Amino acid sequence: MRYKVPYNYLPFEFKDTRNIFKEWSKLIKSTDFTLGKFVEKFENQFSKFCGVKYCISTNNGTDALILALKSLKIGSGDEVITVPNSFYATTGAIVAVGAKPIFVDCDERYQIDTNLIEHKITKKTKAILPVHWAGASPDMKKIMKIAKKYNLYVVEDACMGIGGRISNKHPGTIGHVNAFSLHPLKSLNVMGDGGMIVTNNTKIYQWVKKYRNHGMINRDQNEIWGVNMRMQPLQSIVAIENLKKLNKVISTRNKNANYMDKKFKDMKPYVITPKRLNNNLETFSLYMVLVKKRDLLLKYLISKGIEAKIHYPIPLHKQKAHINSNYFKNEKFPVVERHAKKLITLPMHQYIKPKQIDYISACIKQFYN
Ligand SMILES: *Cc1c(COP(=O)(O)O)cnc(C)c1O
Repeated sequence: MRYKVPYNYLPFEFKDTRNIFKEWSKLIKSTDFTLGKFVEKFENQFSKFCGVKYCISTNNGTDALILALKSLKIGSGDEVITVPNSFYATTGAIVAVGAKPIFVDCDERYQIDTNLIEHKITKKTKAILPVHWAGASPDMKKIMKIAKKYNLYVVEDACMGIGGRISNKHPGTIGHVNAFSLHPLKSLNVMGDGGMIVTNNTKIYQWVKKYRNHGMINRDQNEIWGVNMRMQPLQSIVAIENLKKLNKVISTRNKNANYMDKKFKDMKPYVITPKRLNNNLETFSLYMVLVKKRDLLLKYLISKGIEAKIHYPIPLHKQKAHINSNYFKNEKFPVVERHAKKLITLPMHQYIKPKQIDYISACIKQFYN
């Protein structure tokens, strides 16, 4: 089915690839196929863009999260506090390093409920891993305050937050070591997988850079046992091209999302938009609202050619992977559980036209009438 309002914007984004091919032919001539100057160029540009000292690119966002946790020596016996409403990779990364994920419920903005964090801190807690879920940001000020009080690290999962702002800071620049993803449906994307870590800590930077590349200091010398989590140079070129457009992408998405929000103002209690904070510029990686009769509405919208989705119908603590791992016994997260039944994600990207937004809102109105 060809959608009237498609969710997938990649065909529009990559309509004109002339610059990318031009740079790719330079790369091919240089044969700089593992790390090298194209990758370094992207790392320098990204750290400058978000105002941090160091950026280390990786193969994907999941690797970035794993590296970030490893760089803080978090592993077996440690606990990491995070949310049960995220993509699998957030918890997957905690488990991958051997640590135990500890969940905290979310608030009505779908972000970690900072009032509940302190209850979950134990002697084993090493870090808080907040997620910039959907591209909105949690209360990072409060999270940093709690972390300071209990001497914990903060690792931001800013995979969806690239190009957003919290006051004048970038998501992913507030915690100690922070992770981003360049997956095709993130606000900054490549043609496949990519990711990065940023930090202001020189020691951590040096360790991550080494570990990402086998622990080598040069071709003949290996200082620590490491892995290969390098970004592909072909992708770093795509990232450089898209970074040029990122601020424009974010401002267009905000214009579109504000227009959609306005349409929903008089549709309470059928459609409830999350509170938008003045000091938080969102990336709208996901435009999510809470709706009545969600599953029927989803079907209806799809029948009308609107490619709506759900992120996600089953929260992480209810996934088999988690239940089978025996991390805890039937803990309840009432807000996340309620949201999982009511959330719907509407197509909301930089290529949506006001007319399409009018159409979405008209269809939703029609459904409830
Ligand atoms: C996409 C995403 C990831 C994983 O990133 P990949 O690049 O797909 O590995 C992790 N956390 C969140 C919140 C994400 O949205």
